[in-house]
Amino acid sequence: MSQFKTYTFRLYPNNDQKKKLNSFLGTTRFVYNHYLELKEKEYSLNFKDMKKDIPSLVENYPWMKEVDSIIPRCAIDNLENAFTRYFNNLGGKPKFKKHSSLCSYRTSCIRREHKDKEYQNIKVDLINRTIKLPKISEIKIKGYRNLTTFDKKIINVTVKRVAGKYYANVLVSEDIEVPSFKPSLNMVGIDLGVKTLMTTSDGEKIENIKEQLARYEHKLKGLNRWLARSKKGSKNREKIIIKIQKLNQKIRNAKKFYNNIMINKILKENDVVFLENLKTKEMIENGASSLAKSISNSNFSDIINKFKYKAKMLGKKVYQVSTYFPSSQICYSCGSRNEKVKNLSVRKWKCPNCHNVNERDINASLNILEEGMKLYFKDLDKEMKLYLENIDRELKLI
Ligand SMILES: [Zn+2]
Repeated sequence: MSQFKTYTFRLYPNNDQKKKLNSFLGTTRFVYNHYLELKEKEYSLNFKDMKKDIPSLVENYPWMKEVDSIIPRCAIDNLENAFTRYFNNLGGKPKFKKHSSLCSYRTSCIRREHKDKEYQNIKVDLINRTIKLPKISEIKIKGYRNLTTFDKKIINVTVKRVAGKYYANVLVSEDIEVPSFKPSLNMVGIDLGVKTLMTTSDGEKIENIKEQLARYEHKLKGLNRWLARSKKGSKNREKIIIKIQKLNQKIRNAKKFYNNIMINKILKENDVVFLENLKTKEMIENGASSLAKSISNSNFSDIINKFKYKAKMLGKKVYQVSTYFPSSQICYSCGSRNEKVKNLSVRKWKCPNCHNVNERDINASLNILEEGMKLYFKDLDKEMKLYLENIDRELKLI
């Protein structure tokens, strides 16, 4: 299995190289702003067409010929990402980049074979301590003193300028060995929720990081009040906006970090994990506002993806039950369905059929466990059949 990893090197460009790096950084901003302006004029313009248009842009601005040709394409990718985030309620409307605001450019690694020799446009040389980037000579680097070779598969490089210093983030794909899955009955079903983040079929409840977030929210409120009072276009206002952006980033990081700890704990205790499908959640939680929904859904998809990825690395398994499985509406003790409890505000309900009192989240996680086990045992059956067939074959050979 392969894993992505980023290596960050500090760059020490000479004056000529600095000039080039600055012009590459400027190109990203120029291309981004150019196509944002076109898109604002003609909304139907799509990102593929923008990429097709690059050669004519280069014709009009001959200085662009000196620039690494991948950079304009990456700038359009950035613009597309900004629009995607905007449409998914994860970011504001894409804005024009100011001279100070966008200080990074990304370029991809391209490999070519010629006469049985492989050539690539990006190289990290840890003997001479240099990095070769497209359209620019070897730049001196520092970092990773213990490494002497860099025979890794480079995917791309992002060059950043921070407070006058230059850095390169080199993204590589590394092969790693993962343990193989061993059939196990250490299983758990998990219900994801807005109120309680995760409820396990073992009865464990993992809350949201409410306290920490509440503290951040309090700060955010204060900043927003400041923002409302500040003069439009003033330097002070810009400072407050940056503070708000930083705080929002902190809130996102806190959520992610917390998810990691909880996911690791569950995967330590269990070998097979059963989760819901995201769409199930979307349909059930019709009570929440669309913004809250999209935020919690992005958190859910983050949790699900992390479970899948980490389980793979640890030789464990994750199954997701069908999109249409009504985990919250089925009574776990008798199996009858009660559609009246669809609404999220119903936290506890008495089953009209067997009179059992069901706690919403625990009942759902038990149902997910049972439904997931069906999928898991089907897989085990297949593996068992293969195993028995192999024994048969070996017996025949004897
Ligand atoms: Zn029942």
